[in-house]
Amino acid sequence: WPGMEQDVESLPRGGFRCRLCHVTAANKPSLHDHLRGKKHQRLESLRTKRQLQELRSVFVSGFHKGTSAPELSEYFQAFGGVASVVMDKDKGVYAIVELQDQEVLEKVLAHPQHCLGGKRLRVKPREKKEFKYMPPKKQGSAPREQLSPEKLTQALCQADDVDAQMSQVVQLFEFSESERQLRHLLVTLFQEVFSEFFPGCAILPFGSSVNGFDIHGCDLDLFLDLEKTKSFQASAKAPQEAQVRRAGNRDPWRTKCTPLQAEEGAGPDTDSEDSILSDIDLATATVPEVLELVAAVLRKCVPGVHSVQAVPSARRPVVKFCHKDSGLLGDISINNRLALCNTRFLQFCTEADERVRPLVYTLRYWAKQQGLAGNPFGGGPLLNNYALTLLVLFFLQTRCPPALPTVAQLRELTALGDGDQAIVDGWDCSFPQDASRLEPNTNTESLCSLLAKFFCVFGDHDFAGCVISLREGRALPLPNFLLSEMDSKLKLGPFNVQDPFELSHNVAANVNEKTALRFQHCCRDGAKYCRSLQYQRKSSKGKAWGLVRLFQPGVPEAGELGPDGFLLTIPFTPMALSPGSRWQLCQARDFRRCWFGKVCSAITFVLKDVLKCSCTEPAGQPLTQEPTEQGGGEQPIVGSKHPQSDEGGSLVVSPARKRLRAEGPAPEEGESMSWSCAVWHRVWMGRRRIRRQLWHLGSPQPDTEQEAGSLEVEEKVSEAIIQQEGDSRGAEPLLRFTACAQVGGSQEDTRTLLCFTPAPQQGPLFQDFYHFLQGFLPKMVERYVGRTAEGGSSESQDSALRLGDAILD
Ligand code: ATP
Ligand code: MG
Repeated sequence: WPGMEQDVESLPRGGFRCRLCHVTAANKPSLHDHLRGKKHQRLESLRTKRQLQELRSVFVSGFHKGTSAPELSEYFQAFGGVASVVMDKDKGVYAIVELQDQEVLEKVLAHPQHCLGGKRLRVKPREKKEFKYMPPKKQGSAPREQLSPEKLTQALCQADDVDAQMSQVVQLFEFSESERQLRHLLVTLFQEVFSEFFPGCAILPFGSSVNGFDIHGCDLDLFLDLEKTKSFQASAKAPQEAQVRRAGNRDPWRTKCTPLQAEEGAGPDTDSEDSILSDIDLATATVPEVLELVAAVLRKCVPGVHSVQAVPSARRPVVKFCHKDSGLLGDISINNRLALCNTRFLQFCTEADERVRPLVYTLRYWAKQQGLAGNPFGGGPLLNNYALTLLVLFFLQTRCPPALPTVAQLRELTALGDGDQAIVDGWDCSFPQDASRLEPNTNTESLCSLLAKFFCVFGDHDFAGCVISLREGRALPLPNFLLSEMDSKLKLGPFNVQDPFELSHNVAANVNEKTALRFQHCCRDGAKYCRSLQYQRKSSKGKAWGLVRLFQPGVPEAGELGPDGFLLTIPFTPMALSPGSRWQLCQARDFRRCWFGKVCSAITFVLKDVLKCSCTEPAGQPLTQEPTEQGGGEQPIVGSKHPQSDEGGSLVVSPARKRLRAEGPAPEEGESMSWSCAVWHRVWMGRRRIRRQLWHLGSPQPDTEQEAGSLEVEEKVSEAIIQQEGDSRGAEPLLRFTACAQVGGSQEDTRTLLCFTPAPQQGPLFQDFYHFLQGFLPKMVERYVGRTAEGGSSESQDSALRLGDAILD
C-alpha cells in the first residue's frame, strides 16, 4: 500500500495504527478499509499539498512592523509569480511567502540581499516539518476540557470495586493523545525559536507534563538550559575564535544553528546585528536580565503566545506565559535543574510500582475537593501537588513491607554502578535509570486498603513535630533532626516535608497551621469513612459508594474543621494598640504569650458581656491549678492566677490539656485555654436592624454601620434582642458549645486559633451562630484589645498580660 510504511505502525496482538489519522484497526482487512476510506485519502492529499507548498515557500522576517501581505507580495513578484503570502497574525514579525514554483524560489534564495522599505529582509527556506493532523474538534480545546463531577460520579459508580475506581480516576484525568501531542508540538516550537536566539540551548519539559501525573489542562513547565549557549558565547568572545567567528558570520535567521551544528564548531554569530545575544553576556548577566530577555523572545517571536510576564522574585524565577489557542498556561525557568531531577524521580516511582499513579491521582483529587491542595496561582497556604505527591511516596516507602525504596537505598544502588551519579547544585541526585532492575516488590496491598491506611497514618501524624524524610524513608522527630542537622537551613513550620534531593528545602513550608490542621482532620474523616461498608462495597441500589463519597467537597467555609469542630482565626492586630502599648508589647520577653493573654480576655468579654452567653468549665476537664481568686459570680474561677476583668457572671476559665512540651523552638506551641458556653437568645440575628434603631435613638453611630459598632453599642444590641425575645432563662439554652483557644503553631505565628465544638445535634442553628462569630468575634476582639490598651483600663491590660502568663507558665 503506498505510503504504508510511513503511516502504519503494528501494534501488539496483530492490530495496526494509522499515524496520519490516529486511527487503530484490529486487523489487516480493517486497516485496508481505513486506508482506502475517505478520511485517510483526504488527509493524504492534504499532506501532499502542504508538502508541495512548503517546498516552494520562504520564511521572511526583518520587515517593518505593519508591513502588509500585498506589499510583500509585490516585492517578491519581481522574482516571478507569488502564490500566497501568510502573515504571522499574532505579532506581524514574520511571513510565509509561497512562490509559484521551485524555479522562482531558487531565484529568491540566490538573491544576495533583500531590502524592503529600507529594512534588510531575512529570507530562508521553510523548515521541513512533519505533517501532523490534529482532529479539528479537539484541537485547541483539549486542555480546557474539564471533567464534570457528574460524569466522574457516574463513571465511578459503575466500577466494580474501589481498586477499579482508582484506576478509572487515572484514565479520566490523564492526558489524551492529542493533549500529549499538543505539548510535544509546543516544546518543539519553543526549541526552534529559542535556538535562534540562544544557540545550543535546550528547552526541557518537567513537572506534571512529563512526571507521570499529568492532568487535563495542567500547566506546562519548561526549563531553558543555557549552559551550552554560555560556552559558545564565551568561546566566540575569545580572541583565538575570531576566525571561527568570521566563518560563522551568518545571519542567525538565515541559518538555523542547531545544537548539533554548534557542537561541530560552527558557532553562532554573536556579533550579528540581529543576534539578541550581542547585547548581553550570559556569563555575567543577572537572573532578572536573562528572564527579561526570555520574556522578550516569547513576546516578540513565539507565535500564539501572550500574557508574558517575568517573575524574578519567585523562589525559582520564571517567565509565565499563556498559549492562546490551547489556553495552556506555562512557565519557563532558567535555574531549576533540580526540578528536572525530581521530575525524573517521580517518574521513576511510577515505574517502580504501578499503584503509585492511581493512589496519587486519587489523593490529589480528594485534596483538591477538600480545599487542601493544588493552588493554581502558586503561593498560598495549601499543599502544592508536588508536596502532596512526595507525601504519598513517603507513605509507600513506610509500608510494611515497603512498597517503594528510600532515596538513600536508590543512591546505594547507583553507587554499585546501576545508573548515573549526579550532583546538581551541590546536592546528590543519583538514582538508577531503570526501575525494572529494582528488587521485586513484596508489598501486595490493594489500592483500596492503601488509601484507607494513608488516611489513618496522616490522621494521626505529628506534622509540626517532625520532618518527613524521603531520603531516609522515615519521619525524623524535630529534636533529632535539629541535633543531627545543626546548620540545616530547612524552614520548619506546621508541615515539614524535606525535598528528597535538596535537603535544605521544606517543600511544604508555605502550608500554614490552619491548612495543616484541616489536612489532619480531613484525613481522620477519610479514615473513618474508609472503615464503612459504603466505602468498601459497591452499592446495589445505585447509591454513591467508594471514592464517590470521599470526593464530595468539604464544607467550603475556610474555617470549618468538619464534624469535630469549627475553627476561627484571630489575627495579630498590633495596629489596634496605641504606639506606646505596641512598643511595650513587642519588647516583652515573649510577646506572643502576652498577645494571647489579651486575646483570651477579649474573647471572654465578648462572649459573656457583649453576647450575654454564660460560660462554665467544660465537663471532665482536668483542673491543673489551684484556684486563688474568686470570680465574684456563682462559680469560682478555675485556673488559678486568673486576674481577668470578669465581674460577676458565671464565667469559668481553665487551662486545657497542656501538651507535653517537646524541646523545640516553640515551647509554647499547643498551649490552650477553653470555655464552655451556653447561648440563650438568638443574639446573632437582626443585629444590624437594632443597631440602626439604637442609632436613631441617639447612640453613637457605628463607624461601619453594616458590620459592628463599639463594644458598648454591641452590648446594647444584645440587650435589646434579649428584651424583644423575652427572658427565657431557666429553660434549656438554644446552644451549647465549647471554645478552645490556642496560640498559632509555628514560632513566628502570632495568631490565635479558636476551635468551637458544638454539643451534639445542634446542626444548622450552631452553624448560623458560628458564621456570625467568624465576622464578629475578630473585630470585637480587636476593639477590646485596643480599648484596654488605651490606658482607660490599664488594670485590665495588666491583668490581660498576667492572664497570659498564668495560662502559659
Ligand atoms: P501541577 O502543575 O499539575 O500542579 P506539577 O508537578 O507540575 O503539578 P508545579 O507546581 O507546576 O507542579 O511544579 C512543577 C515541578 O516543579 C514539580 O513537578 C516539581 O518537579 C518542581 N517543584 C514544584 N514545587 C516544588 C517545590 N516546592 N520544591 C521543589 N520542587 C518543586
Ligand atoms: Mg506544573
